[in-house]
Amino acid sequence: MVPRNGYTGEGGSSVISTNLSHGSVESGESLQPVQPTTDVPPEEIPDPEFFGIDTSSPHRCHHEMRPARKVAFVYAATGRRFLGCPLSGPDRCSWFMWIDEAWGPVLSRSLIQLWDQALLDSGRAARLQTKKKEMEQAYLELWTERSNMEIENQQVVNKLKTTILDTEIKMSRRLAEDHCQHIVYCFQL
Ligand SMILES: [Zn+2]
Repeated sequence: MVPRNGYTGEGGSSVISTNLSHGSVESGESLQPVQPTTDVPPEEIPDPEFFGIDTSSPHRCHHEMRPARKVAFVYAATGRRFLGCPLSGPDRCSWFMWIDEAWGPVLSRSLIQLWDQALLDSGRAARLQTKKKEMEQAYLELWTERSNMEIENQQVVNKLKTTILDTEIKMSRRLAEDHCQHIVYCFQL
């Protein structure tokens, strides 16, 4: 599972919460930040209503470029608008700035629970996928074995048929011979 930064969204700053690969939903520990604020911008999602370069912004990223409008997509920060580096991928710098205030505690908690559940479900789905692959492999092996057995069976049946046919031919020949001898014998009488 891909570890994600868990933004609590508290006080407009970002914090890293538990890594879900060994986190648990029940304990609610993902609500507790384990590391202080980082300056890593949140993961984002394309939003048709908030995108593009913010040409009116007085701010500049670490590249001295006008910031881009982005929407966060991680834990309690989900849906919060922010300004970030206009570049993408590894070229992107770490500068960012929230536009929206952090969501209230109720919404934040719900978002965190939803994320926890979604990540748990995707973990479950991945395990099911592995299981399915194993079963498909086992079925394939069984199928191969079965068709091999069918071929062997067919060979045995064919051999048996040939033997029976041979015997029938031999028997009918012998019957014919016996009959002929019988006729000859009758004539002699
Ligand atoms: Zn930048």
